[in-house]
Amino acid sequence: MTEFELRREIVATALAMNERRINRGKSGNVSARIGGGFLITPTGLAYDAIRADDIVEMTLEGEARGSREPSSEWRFHRDIYLARPEVGAVVHAHSVFATTLACLGRGIPAFHYMVAIAGGRDIPCAPYATFGTQELSDHVLEAMDGRNACLLANHGMIAAGVSLSGALALAVEVEALAEQYWRALQIGEPSLLSDAEMDRVIKKFATYGQPAG
Ligand SMILES: [Zn+2]
Repeated sequence: MTEFELRREIVATALAMNERRINRGKSGNVSARIGGGFLITPTGLAYDAIRADDIVEMTLEGEARGSREPSSEWRFHRDIYLARPEVGAVVHAHSVFATTLACLGRGIPAFHYMVAIAGGRDIPCAPYATFGTQELSDHVLEAMDGRNACLLANHGMIAAGVSLSGALALAVEVEALAEQYWRALQIGEPSLLSDAEMDRVIKKFATYGQPAG
């Protein structure tokens, strides 16, 4: 894929976030790894106004190139790429249900086996820190240890993947799980799956879709 194609895919992913109702206005951001750095959505532009040329190229040292300023939340994107060589794309959103739980400081426990899709027994909520700070990024890396998604207290959620489509699909799934958990909480206390069961599911997901043997 050329850099221009990847820029277009970032724009398409940002627009898909609106369509899939995990983003509103200018609050989310999207990035994808390229070469020794990454491409990220610019700050202050509504997604429907963004063109491929507006996507900002950044180095892993945090230096931006191009006519636009990068999203103010570029630090956790950069730190995820630095810490996780297998990650190729990161999606961040202030989606309604994930953010609702995050505003209560609650992550998503093992109330449903699909929680394991993020890679762990639960989807934790990273402690609050001001947006755009290194402190927030440090909390994110800790919460995402062994996982591809987390919630951010009083803020939103993050999902990572090998590709943009994978990161977006995980973000949509995390929001669906957050909504299901929120709904279950309205009528009672959901029963949680055991660690042993979640470990079994994590193992199944790790080989899901892979050729047998
Ligand atoms: Zn945010």
